[in-house]
Amino acid sequence: MQDRELYRQILGIQAPWFVERVELKLPEGEVHVFLDHHEMVSWSCPECSAGCKLYDHQPERRWRHLDTCQYQTILHAQPPRTECGEHGVHVVKLPWAEPSSRFTALFEALAIEWLKHASQQAVAEQMTLSWDEIHGIMERAVERGLKRREAEPIPALGVDEKAFRKGHHYFTLVNDLEKSRVLYVAEDRTQASLDGFWPTLTEEQRNSIEAVAMDMWEPYVNSTRLHLTEADGKIVFDKFHIAKHLSEAVDYVLRKENKILRAAGDDTLTGTRYDWLRHPAKMEADDRRAFAVLRDSGLKTARAWALKETMMAFFEYRYERPARKHFRWWHNWAARSRLQPMIEAGRMLKRRFENIVTYLRHRITNAASESLNAKIQWVKYTARGFRNKQNFINAIYFHCGGLNLAP
Ligand SMILES: [Zn+2]
Repeated sequence: MQDRELYRQILGIQAPWFVERVELKLPEGEVHVFLDHHEMVSWSCPECSAGCKLYDHQPERRWRHLDTCQYQTILHAQPPRTECGEHGVHVVKLPWAEPSSRFTALFEALAIEWLKHASQQAVAEQMTLSWDEIHGIMERAVERGLKRREAEPIPALGVDEKAFRKGHHYFTLVNDLEKSRVLYVAEDRTQASLDGFWPTLTEEQRNSIEAVAMDMWEPYVNSTRLHLTEADGKIVFDKFHIAKHLSEAVDYVLRKENKILRAAGDDTLTGTRYDWLRHPAKMEADDRRAFAVLRDSGLKTARAWALKETMMAFFEYRYERPARKHFRWWHNWAARSRLQPMIEAGRMLKRRFENIVTYLRHRITNAASESLNAKIQWVKYTARGFRNKQNFINAIYFHCGGLNLAP
């Protein structure tokens, strides 16, 4: 009797439910708590909450609860079913668990709290859960969180691609740049990947979008144009993506020139690759002096480097007119540079220019949120445990979605 009252209190069991009996299984380190209910005049239909008569009981089910006194604690009960005139026969809502879960709500809440801060493996070990159970808890948490999400305005979006295990599968992420959260994740980086995002927004939300940062990637451009009014004024090509293209062009010039120099016994450029890729402001004073000599050397690589740096100065402009002038001048220089990779980079940027100059109006990049990137890195780092892509997608929402996950 005392046991029953103790467990009723510990578990927070309320009328009409009561603890019918408690079985201690010492060898297994388990305590089994059997719940039953008093006679009820009516039960609520889970669809409409109308009071209905009891129809029957389902066979006994079990739920893992928080450990009590270091015993794994398992609840047992036969869920009642009601018969609603309108909705037919349904299992009633049980106060301690969600319909599809084999865990009580309190147990899931604790697992979710731990999963936010520890690796899945650590939580699985600490709470003696299988991978499938961990993934089930995360999946239900994400489902709840997405359902609870409110249709807030999202003025600045970032569309980003992430590789899951280097160079393998790609995922498309849509980020809310202001609130630093992931709004949407889809497989691949096709137009269809991004097309799936737009219908998740209300019309007001879609109208609230002022700018979308993205890589120069045609499928994303096409999807945005298809779904957003006046998209051309809103698409902003990511400046770091542009810098990456230019760095690749510089690198190409460097490798070619270095090969020619070395063949002639000159290793001026050998081992300098890293110097050309980082910003001189980040160098030590000695390195900076050495690099200044290279920079002013009249080497082709030095010219390519200067072209890159001059293009990137475009992003420092505040006003569009002088910025356009700067670009025209730069493009002419690139076109006459006799450096094929730079000529090609110049051509590409000219073709894309109207969605580069939008940066001056919106000032957004995909790298807007370091903290969000750190969280995504964490999910990728722990990705060893993911057996399928859906688990990875759920983990992104779980850690980076800014969702209310509680049961
Ligand atoms: Zn009903």
